[in-house]
Amino acid sequence: MNHSTYDVAIVGGSIAGCTAAILYARAGARVALIERHKSPDAYKVLCNHYIQPSAVPLMRELGVTPLIERAGAPRTLPVAWWTRWGWIEPEPEPGGEPLPYGFNVRRETLDPIVRRIALDTEGVDVQLGAKAVDLVSEGGRTVGVRIKQGGEEREIRARLVVGADGRNSSVAEYAGIPTKSVANSRFSYFAYYRGDVLPKSDVSYIWFGQDMAYANPTDGGLTAIACAPGKSHLPAFKADLDGAYTEYLSRLPGGPDLSAGERVSKIIGTTDYPLLQREPTAPGLALVGDAGLCSDPIWGVGVGWAFQSASWLVAATKERLHLGPGEVDRGLAEYRREHRARLRGQQFLIADYAGGRPMNPIERQLFAGAVRDPQTARHLHRYASRFIGVREFLAPRVLARAGLVNARHRIRGAARTSL
Ligand SMILES: Cc1cc2nc3c(=O)[nH]c(=O)nc-3n(C[C@H](O)[C@H](O)[C@H](O)COP(=O)(O)OP(=O)(O)OC[C@H]3O[C@@H](n4cnc5c(N)ncnc54)[C@H](O)[C@@H]3O)c2cc1C
Repeated sequence: MNHSTYDVAIVGGSIAGCTAAILYARAGARVALIERHKSPDAYKVLCNHYIQPSAVPLMRELGVTPLIERAGAPRTLPVAWWTRWGWIEPEPEPGGEPLPYGFNVRRETLDPIVRRIALDTEGVDVQLGAKAVDLVSEGGRTVGVRIKQGGEEREIRARLVVGADGRNSSVAEYAGIPTKSVANSRFSYFAYYRGDVLPKSDVSYIWFGQDMAYANPTDGGLTAIACAPGKSHLPAFKADLDGAYTEYLSRLPGGPDLSAGERVSKIIGTTDYPLLQREPTAPGLALVGDAGLCSDPIWGVGVGWAFQSASWLVAATKERLHLGPGEVDRGLAEYRREHRARLRGQQFLIADYAGGRPMNPIERQLFAGAVRDPQTARHLHRYASRFIGVREFLAPRVLARAGLVNARHRIRGAARTSL
Protein backbone atom coordinates (compact mmCIF):
# COMPACT_ATOMS: atom_id res chain seq x y z
CA MET A 1 0.00 0.00 0.00
CA ASN A 2 1.38 3.43 -0.93
CA HIS A 3 1.67 5.95 1.84
CA SER A 4 2.60 9.57 2.46
CA THR A 5 4.10 11.17 5.55
CA TYR A 6 3.12 14.35 7.38
CA ASP A 7 3.82 15.97 10.73
CA VAL A 8 0.13 15.88 11.65
CA ALA A 9 -2.81 13.95 10.15
CA ILE A 10 -6.21 15.38 11.14
CA VAL A 11 -9.43 13.45 10.56
CA GLY A 12 -12.44 15.77 10.20
CA GLY A 13 -12.43 19.09 8.34
CA SER A 14 -15.05 21.00 10.29
CA ILE A 15 -14.51 23.60 13.05
CA ALA A 16 -12.07 21.71 15.29
CA GLY A 17 -10.16 20.02 12.46
CA CYS A 18 -9.70 23.15 10.34
CA THR A 19 -8.63 25.17 13.40
CA ALA A 20 -5.98 22.61 14.30
CA ALA A 21 -4.80 22.41 10.67
CA ILE A 22 -4.48 26.19 10.27
CA LEU A 23 -2.63 26.66 13.57
CA TYR A 24 -0.23 23.72 13.04
CA ALA A 25 0.58 24.85 9.51
CA ARG A 26 1.16 28.44 10.66
CA ALA A 27 3.66 26.97 13.15
CA GLY A 28 5.50 25.34 10.23
CA ALA A 29 4.06 21.79 10.33
CA ARG A 30 3.04 19.77 7.25
CA VAL A 31 -0.57 18.80 7.79
CA ALA A 32 -2.95 16.34 6.10
CA LEU A 33 -6.58 17.35 6.68
CA ILE A 34 -8.88 14.42 5.88
CA GLU A 35 -12.57 15.17 5.33
CA ARG A 36 -15.14 12.68 4.09
CA HIS A 37 -17.31 15.30 2.38
CA LYS A 38 -16.29 16.09 -1.18
CA SER A 39 -17.41 19.69 -1.26
CA PRO A 40 -15.50 22.45 0.54
CA ASP A 41 -18.91 24.04 1.14
CA ALA A 42 -20.28 21.10 3.18
CA TYR A 43 -21.64 22.10 6.57
CA LYS A 44 -23.18 20.65 9.72
CA VAL A 45 -26.94 20.95 9.47
CA LEU A 46 -27.88 20.11 13.04
CA CYS A 47 -26.53 23.11 14.91
CA ASN A 48 -28.05 26.23 16.37
CA HIS A 49 -24.76 28.09 15.88
CA TYR A 50 -24.71 30.46 18.86
CA ILE A 51 -20.96 30.95 19.32
CA GLN A 52 -19.76 31.87 22.78
CA PRO A 53 -17.73 35.05 23.35
CA SER A 54 -14.84 32.98 24.77
CA ALA A 55 -14.04 31.77 21.23
CA VAL A 56 -13.99 35.19 19.60
CA PRO A 57 -10.33 36.14 20.30
CA LEU A 58 -9.25 32.88 18.61
CA MET A 59 -11.70 33.36 15.72
CA ARG A 60 -10.11 36.78 15.21
CA GLU A 61 -6.61 35.23 15.22
CA LEU A 62 -7.73 32.67 12.63
CA GLY A 63 -9.12 35.41 10.38
CA VAL A 64 -12.69 34.10 10.68
CA THR A 65 -14.26 37.16 12.34
CA PRO A 66 -14.07 39.72 9.50
CA LEU A 67 -15.35 37.16 7.00
CA ILE A 68 -18.41 36.17 9.02
CA GLU A 69 -19.14 39.79 9.82
CA ARG A 70 -18.98 40.57 6.10
CA ALA A 71 -21.38 37.66 5.55
CA GLY A 72 -23.86 39.35 7.90
CA ALA A 73 -23.32 37.43 11.16
CA PRO A 74 -24.79 39.47 14.01
CA ARG A 75 -23.16 39.69 17.43
CA THR A 76 -24.82 37.86 20.31
CA LEU A 77 -25.40 41.08 22.29
CA PRO A 78 -27.76 42.24 23.65
CA VAL A 79 -28.99 39.09 25.37
CA ALA A 80 -32.19 38.62 27.37
CA TRP A 81 -32.70 35.58 29.57
CA TRP A 82 -36.14 34.82 30.94
CA THR A 83 -36.31 33.22 34.37
CA ARG A 84 -39.24 32.69 36.72
CA TRP A 85 -37.99 35.73 38.70
CA GLY A 86 -37.99 38.03 35.66
CA TRP A 87 -35.63 38.96 32.80
CA ILE A 88 -31.85 39.05 33.09
CA GLU A 89 -30.44 41.62 30.67
CA PRO A 90 -26.71 42.03 31.34
CA GLU A 91 -25.40 45.56 30.69
CA PRO A 92 -21.84 46.91 30.90
CA GLU A 93 -20.85 48.74 34.04
CA PRO A 94 -21.45 52.48 33.56
CA GLY A 95 -18.17 53.85 32.16
CA GLY A 96 -16.69 50.32 32.21
CA GLU A 97 -15.58 47.77 29.62
CA PRO A 98 -18.16 46.67 27.05
CA LEU A 99 -19.49 43.14 27.60
CA PRO A 100 -17.83 40.48 25.48
CA TYR A 101 -19.90 39.30 22.51
CA GLY A 102 -20.09 36.12 20.43
CA PHE A 103 -21.70 35.51 17.05
CA ASN A 104 -24.83 33.97 15.64
CA VAL A 105 -23.81 32.53 12.30
CA ARG A 106 -25.38 29.67 10.38
CA ARG A 107 -23.12 26.72 9.81
CA GLU A 108 -23.79 26.95 6.08
CA THR A 109 -22.00 30.32 6.29
CA LEU A 110 -19.38 29.50 8.94
CA ASP A 111 -18.13 26.06 7.88
CA PRO A 112 -17.15 26.97 4.29
CA ILE A 113 -15.40 30.14 5.56
CA VAL A 114 -13.31 28.20 8.09
CA ARG A 115 -12.57 25.43 5.56
CA ARG A 116 -11.46 27.92 2.89
CA ILE A 117 -9.02 29.50 5.34
CA ALA A 118 -7.60 25.98 5.89
CA LEU A 119 -7.48 25.34 2.12
CA ASP A 120 -5.58 28.60 1.60
CA THR A 121 -3.07 27.99 4.40
CA GLU A 122 0.35 26.96 3.15
CA GLY A 123 1.32 23.59 4.59
CA VAL A 124 -2.26 22.22 4.81
CA ASP A 125 -2.95 19.42 2.34
CA VAL A 126 -6.76 19.10 2.34
CA GLN A 127 -8.00 15.71 1.22
CA LEU A 128 -11.71 16.08 0.45
CA GLY A 129 -13.88 13.02 -0.18
CA ALA A 130 -11.44 10.99 1.96
CA LYS A 131 -12.81 8.87 4.76
CA ALA A 132 -10.69 7.53 7.61
CA VAL A 133 -11.39 3.80 7.79
CA ASP A 134 -8.80 2.74 10.37
CA LEU A 135 -5.73 3.82 12.27
CA VAL A 136 -2.21 2.56 11.70
CA SER A 137 -0.54 1.45 14.93
CA GLU A 138 2.95 0.25 15.82
CA GLY A 139 3.91 -1.01 19.26
CA GLY A 140 0.73 0.34 20.86
CA ARG A 141 1.19 3.80 19.35
CA THR A 142 -0.87 5.45 16.62
CA VAL A 143 1.42 6.31 13.73
CA GLY A 144 -1.05 7.04 10.96
CA VAL A 145 -4.50 6.81 9.42
CA ARG A 146 -5.84 4.53 6.72
CA ILE A 147 -8.11 6.43 4.36
CA LYS A 148 -10.43 5.51 1.54
CA GLN A 149 -10.67 8.03 -1.28
CA GLY A 150 -12.15 7.50 -4.76
CA GLY A 151 -12.43 3.74 -4.17
CA GLU A 152 -8.76 3.39 -3.20
CA GLU A 153 -7.27 2.81 0.22
CA ARG A 154 -3.97 4.26 1.35
CA GLU A 155 -2.09 5.14 4.50
CA ILE A 156 -1.16 8.55 5.77
CA ARG A 157 1.65 8.42 8.32
CA ALA A 158 2.18 11.20 10.83
CA ARG A 159 4.03 12.11 14.01
CA LEU A 160 0.64 12.94 15.52
CA VAL A 161 -2.89 11.89 14.52
CA VAL A 162 -5.83 14.10 15.53
CA GLY A 163 -9.44 12.95 15.70
CA ALA A 164 -11.64 15.96 14.91
CA ASP A 165 -14.40 13.78 13.53
CA GLY A 166 -17.30 14.80 15.75
CA ARG A 167 -19.36 13.16 18.47
CA ASN A 168 -19.49 9.70 16.86
CA SER A 169 -15.72 9.76 16.40
CA SER A 170 -14.57 6.71 14.48
CA VAL A 171 -10.96 7.66 15.29
CA ALA A 172 -11.76 7.19 18.99
CA GLU A 173 -13.42 3.88 18.17
CA TYR A 174 -10.45 2.63 16.08
CA ALA A 175 -8.13 3.64 18.94
CA GLY A 176 -10.28 1.78 21.46
CA ILE A 177 -10.93 4.92 23.54
CA PRO A 178 -14.11 4.33 25.54
CA THR A 179 -17.01 6.79 25.53
CA LYS A 180 -18.67 8.00 28.72
CA SER A 181 -22.28 8.85 28.01
CA VAL A 182 -24.72 10.86 30.17
CA ALA A 183 -28.43 10.79 29.38
CA ASN A 184 -30.07 14.02 28.26
CA SER A 185 -33.62 14.52 29.48
CA ARG A 186 -34.37 17.14 26.82
CA PHE A 187 -34.74 16.99 23.05
CA SER A 188 -34.55 19.89 20.64
CA TYR A 189 -36.04 21.24 17.43
CA PHE A 190 -35.40 24.47 15.56
CA ALA A 191 -36.38 26.36 12.42
CA TYR A 192 -35.54 29.62 10.65
CA TYR A 193 -37.92 32.55 10.27
CA ARG A 194 -37.88 35.68 8.16
CA GLY A 195 -39.65 38.76 9.49
CA ASP A 196 -40.14 40.52 12.81
CA VAL A 197 -40.89 37.50 14.97
CA LEU A 198 -39.03 38.74 18.08
CA PRO A 199 -40.11 41.48 20.49
CA LYS A 200 -36.68 43.11 19.87
CA SER A 201 -35.13 42.03 16.59
CA ASP A 202 -31.46 42.40 17.66
CA VAL A 203 -31.70 40.49 20.96
CA SER A 204 -30.61 36.87 21.54
CA TYR A 205 -33.21 35.33 23.84
CA ILE A 206 -33.13 32.31 26.17
CA TRP A 207 -36.03 31.02 28.24
CA PHE A 208 -34.65 29.11 31.24
CA GLY A 209 -36.47 26.35 33.05
CA GLN A 210 -36.82 22.60 32.92
CA ASP A 211 -38.31 23.22 29.47
CA MET A 212 -36.13 25.66 27.55
CA ALA A 213 -36.19 27.73 24.37
CA TYR A 214 -34.01 30.16 22.37
CA ALA A 215 -34.35 32.71 19.64
CA ASN A 216 -31.28 34.06 17.88
CA PRO A 217 -31.16 36.61 15.08
CA THR A 218 -28.62 35.26 12.59
CA ASP A 219 -27.08 35.94 9.17
CA GLY A 220 -29.22 36.06 6.05
CA GLY A 221 -31.70 38.29 7.89
CA LEU A 222 -33.09 35.19 9.57
CA THR A 223 -33.95 34.24 13.14
CA ALA A 224 -33.28 30.75 14.44
CA ILE A 225 -35.95 29.67 16.92
CA ALA A 226 -35.30 26.58 18.99
CA CYS A 227 -37.10 24.71 21.70
CA ALA A 228 -35.60 22.19 24.13
CA PRO A 229 -38.48 20.59 26.02
CA GLY A 230 -38.25 17.78 28.53
CA LYS A 231 -38.97 14.35 27.09
CA SER A 232 -42.48 14.27 28.56
CA HIS A 233 -43.35 16.50 25.56
CA LEU A 234 -41.95 14.01 23.05
CA PRO A 235 -45.19 12.12 22.25
CA ALA A 236 -46.89 15.42 21.31
CA PHE A 237 -43.96 16.40 19.07
CA LYS A 238 -43.92 12.95 17.45
CA ALA A 239 -47.66 13.10 16.77
CA ASP A 240 -47.63 16.61 15.25
CA LEU A 241 -44.23 18.31 15.01
CA ASP A 242 -45.46 21.54 13.46
CA GLY A 243 -48.36 21.91 15.90
CA ALA A 244 -46.42 20.99 19.04
CA TYR A 245 -43.46 23.25 18.12
CA THR A 246 -45.74 26.24 17.43
CA GLU A 247 -47.81 25.66 20.57
CA TYR A 248 -44.73 25.26 22.79
CA LEU A 249 -43.24 28.54 21.54
CA SER A 250 -46.54 30.40 21.78
CA ARG A 251 -46.61 29.75 25.56
CA LEU A 252 -43.24 31.44 26.27
CA PRO A 253 -43.56 34.63 28.31
CA GLY A 254 -42.53 37.53 26.03
CA GLY A 255 -41.81 34.91 23.37
CA PRO A 256 -41.64 35.06 19.58
CA ASP A 257 -44.71 35.79 17.50
CA LEU A 258 -44.35 33.21 14.75
CA SER A 259 -47.38 34.56 12.89
CA ALA A 260 -45.50 37.85 12.32
CA GLY A 261 -42.96 36.10 10.09
CA GLU A 262 -42.54 33.31 7.59
CA ARG A 263 -40.91 29.98 8.35
CA VAL A 264 -38.28 29.40 5.64
CA SER A 265 -36.90 26.00 6.70
CA LYS A 266 -38.07 22.65 7.90
CA ILE A 267 -38.30 22.13 11.65
CA ILE A 268 -35.28 19.96 12.37
CA GLY A 269 -33.84 18.50 15.55
CA THR A 270 -32.88 15.47 17.52
CA THR A 271 -34.91 13.47 20.01
CA ASP A 272 -32.02 11.79 21.82
CA TYR A 273 -28.72 13.54 22.37
CA PRO A 274 -26.72 12.12 25.30
CA LEU A 275 -23.64 14.03 26.39
CA LEU A 276 -20.40 12.26 25.49
CA GLN A 277 -16.93 12.43 26.93
CA ARG A 278 -13.67 10.62 26.12
CA GLU A 279 -10.07 10.68 27.29
CA PRO A 280 -8.76 13.26 24.83
CA THR A 281 -5.37 11.60 24.25
CA ALA A 282 -3.66 8.25 23.68
CA PRO A 283 -0.06 7.61 22.57
CA GLY A 284 0.42 9.47 19.27
CA LEU A 285 -3.24 10.54 19.18
CA ALA A 286 -5.45 13.44 20.32
CA LEU A 287 -9.18 14.14 20.14
CA VAL A 288 -10.46 17.71 19.70
CA GLY A 289 -13.93 19.27 19.52
CA ASP A 290 -16.95 16.98 19.89
CA ALA A 291 -14.74 13.92 19.44
CA GLY A 292 -13.24 14.59 22.88
CA LEU A 293 -16.23 16.15 24.62
CA CYS A 294 -19.73 16.68 23.31
CA SER A 295 -21.91 18.82 25.54
CA ASP A 296 -25.60 19.65 25.77
CA PRO A 297 -26.67 21.82 22.81
CA ILE A 298 -28.84 23.99 25.09
CA TRP A 299 -25.77 25.86 26.35
CA GLY A 300 -24.39 26.68 22.88
CA VAL A 301 -20.83 25.73 23.80
CA GLY A 302 -19.85 23.10 21.19
CA VAL A 303 -18.61 25.33 18.38
CA GLY A 304 -16.62 27.58 20.71
CA TRP A 305 -15.06 24.60 22.46
CA ALA A 306 -14.27 22.99 19.08
CA PHE A 307 -12.29 26.09 18.09
CA GLN A 308 -10.65 26.39 21.50
CA SER A 309 -9.78 22.75 22.23
CA ALA A 310 -7.98 22.57 18.87
CA SER A 311 -5.94 25.64 19.82
CA TRP A 312 -5.01 24.15 23.24
CA LEU A 313 -3.76 20.99 21.49
CA VAL A 314 -1.64 22.94 19.01
CA ALA A 315 -0.17 25.15 21.76
CA ALA A 316 0.85 22.08 23.78
CA THR A 317 2.38 20.07 20.93
CA LYS A 318 3.55 22.28 18.06
CA GLU A 319 7.12 22.74 19.37
CA ARG A 320 7.46 19.04 20.16
CA LEU A 321 6.45 17.42 16.87
CA HIS A 322 10.07 16.97 15.74
CA LEU A 323 11.50 15.94 19.11
CA GLY A 324 10.45 12.28 19.04
CA PRO A 325 7.45 10.29 20.32
CA GLY A 326 8.29 10.81 24.00
CA GLU A 327 8.17 14.60 23.66
CA VAL A 328 4.98 14.44 21.55
CA ASP A 329 3.34 12.42 24.31
CA ARG A 330 4.52 14.94 26.92
CA GLY A 331 2.78 17.60 24.87
CA LEU A 332 -0.32 15.41 24.74
CA ALA A 333 -0.27 15.10 28.53
CA GLU A 334 -0.16 18.91 28.74
CA TYR A 335 -3.16 19.13 26.39
CA ARG A 336 -5.05 16.54 28.47
CA ARG A 337 -4.48 18.60 31.63
CA GLU A 338 -5.58 21.81 29.91
CA HIS A 339 -8.69 20.14 28.47
CA ARG A 340 -9.61 18.81 31.90
CA ALA A 341 -8.91 22.06 33.74
CA ARG A 342 -10.94 24.13 31.29
CA LEU A 343 -13.88 21.85 30.60
CA ARG A 344 -14.39 19.18 33.25
CA GLY A 345 -16.11 21.39 35.85
CA GLN A 346 -18.33 23.07 33.27
CA GLN A 347 -19.29 19.76 31.72
CA PHE A 348 -20.06 18.36 35.18
CA LEU A 349 -22.59 21.15 35.86
CA ILE A 350 -24.06 20.83 32.36
CA ALA A 351 -24.41 17.05 32.65
CA ASP A 352 -26.05 17.40 36.07
CA TYR A 353 -28.62 19.86 34.67
CA ALA A 354 -29.21 17.67 31.58
CA GLY A 355 -30.85 15.15 33.90
CA GLY A 356 -33.88 17.47 34.05
CA ARG A 357 -33.62 18.47 37.70
CA PRO A 358 -34.96 21.87 38.76
CA MET A 359 -32.43 24.58 39.57
CA ASN A 360 -30.66 23.91 42.85
CA PRO A 361 -30.66 26.52 45.67
CA ILE A 362 -27.32 28.01 44.53
CA GLU A 363 -28.52 28.40 40.94
CA ARG A 364 -31.81 29.91 42.13
CA GLN A 365 -29.89 32.40 44.27
CA LEU A 366 -27.67 33.41 41.34
CA PHE A 367 -30.39 33.64 38.68
CA ALA A 368 -32.80 35.54 40.96
CA GLY A 369 -29.92 37.78 42.03
CA ALA A 370 -29.00 38.47 38.40
CA VAL A 371 -32.56 39.65 37.69
CA ARG A 372 -32.26 42.21 40.50
CA ASP A 373 -28.58 43.19 40.45
CA PRO A 374 -26.57 44.35 37.38
CA GLN A 375 -23.28 43.14 38.88
CA THR A 376 -24.59 39.59 39.39
CA ALA A 377 -26.06 39.72 35.85
CA ARG A 378 -22.61 40.63 34.47
CA HIS A 379 -21.07 37.78 36.47
CA LEU A 380 -23.60 35.30 35.05
CA HIS A 381 -22.86 36.63 31.56
CA ARG A 382 -19.12 36.08 32.04
CA TYR A 383 -19.78 32.47 33.04
CA ALA A 384 -22.36 31.85 30.30
CA SER A 385 -19.81 33.34 27.85
CA ARG A 386 -17.38 30.67 29.12
CA PHE A 387 -14.75 33.22 30.18
CA ILE A 388 -14.60 31.96 33.75
CA GLY A 389 -14.68 28.47 35.19
CA VAL A 390 -16.95 26.92 37.79
CA ARG A 391 -14.83 27.87 40.79
CA GLU A 392 -14.95 31.58 39.95
CA PHE A 393 -18.63 31.30 38.94
CA LEU A 394 -19.57 29.93 42.34
CA ALA A 395 -17.12 32.03 44.37
CA PRO A 396 -18.41 32.65 47.94
CA ARG A 397 -18.33 36.48 47.50
CA VAL A 398 -20.61 36.16 44.43
CA LEU A 399 -23.08 33.89 46.23
CA ALA A 400 -23.03 36.17 49.28
CA ARG A 401 -23.82 39.22 47.13
CA ALA A 402 -26.66 37.42 45.33
CA GLY A 403 -28.01 36.22 48.69
CA LEU A 404 -27.95 39.78 50.07
CA VAL A 405 -29.64 41.21 46.97
CA ASN A 406 -32.39 38.58 47.20
CA ALA A 407 -32.84 39.10 50.96
CA ARG A 408 -33.20 42.88 50.44
CA HIS A 409 -35.71 42.21 47.68
CA ARG A 410 -37.77 39.99 50.01
CA ILE A 411 -37.65 42.55 52.81
CA ARG A 412 -38.74 45.37 50.45
CA GLY A 413 -41.54 43.12 49.14
CA ALA A 414 -42.71 42.33 52.70
CA ALA A 415 -42.66 46.05 53.62
CA ARG A 416 -44.76 46.91 50.54
CA THR A 417 -47.25 44.14 51.37
CA SER A 418 -47.65 45.37 54.96
CA LEU A 419 -48.34 49.00 53.87
C1 LIG B 1 -29.39 20.47 17.79
C2 LIG B 1 -28.01 21.00 18.04
C3 LIG B 1 -27.84 22.36 18.28
C4 LIG B 1 -26.57 22.86 18.53
N1 LIG B 1 -26.41 24.19 18.77
C5 LIG B 1 -25.21 24.71 19.07
C6 LIG B 1 -25.06 26.11 19.32
O1 LIG B 1 -26.00 26.89 19.31
N2 LIG B 1 -23.80 26.55 19.60
C7 LIG B 1 -22.73 25.72 19.67
O2 LIG B 1 -21.62 26.20 19.96
N3 LIG B 1 -22.84 24.39 19.41
C8 LIG B 1 -24.05 23.87 19.11
N4 LIG B 1 -24.17 22.53 18.83
C9 LIG B 1 -22.96 21.69 18.90
C10 LIG B 1 -22.05 21.87 17.68
O3 LIG B 1 -22.78 21.58 16.51
C11 LIG B 1 -20.83 20.94 17.77
O4 LIG B 1 -20.32 21.02 19.08
C12 LIG B 1 -19.72 21.31 16.78
O5 LIG B 1 -20.16 21.16 15.46
C13 LIG B 1 -18.49 20.43 16.99
O6 LIG B 1 -17.56 20.72 15.97
P1 LIG B 1 -16.44 19.63 15.55
O7 LIG B 1 -15.56 20.29 14.55
O8 LIG B 1 -15.85 19.04 16.77
O9 LIG B 1 -17.28 18.43 14.90
P2 LIG B 1 -18.29 18.41 13.66
O10 LIG B 1 -18.76 19.76 13.34
O11 LIG B 1 -19.29 17.35 13.97
O12 LIG B 1 -17.37 17.92 12.46
C14 LIG B 1 -16.84 16.63 12.31
C15 LIG B 1 -16.27 16.52 10.91
O13 LIG B 1 -15.61 15.26 10.77
C16 LIG B 1 -15.94 14.69 9.52
N5 LIG B 1 -15.79 13.23 9.65
C17 LIG B 1 -16.46 12.41 10.50
N6 LIG B 1 -16.02 11.14 10.37
C18 LIG B 1 -15.04 11.16 9.44
C19 LIG B 1 -14.21 10.16 8.87
N7 LIG B 1 -14.27 8.87 9.25
N8 LIG B 1 -13.32 10.53 7.92
C20 LIG B 1 -13.25 11.83 7.52
N9 LIG B 1 -14.01 12.82 8.01
C21 LIG B 1 -14.89 12.48 8.96
C22 LIG B 1 -17.39 15.15 9.29
O14 LIG B 1 -17.77 15.06 7.93
C23 LIG B 1 -17.33 16.59 9.81
O15 LIG B 1 -16.94 17.49 8.82
C24 LIG B 1 -25.44 21.99 18.55
C25 LIG B 1 -25.62 20.62 18.28
C26 LIG B 1 -26.89 20.14 18.04
C27 LIG B 1 -27.04 18.68 17.76
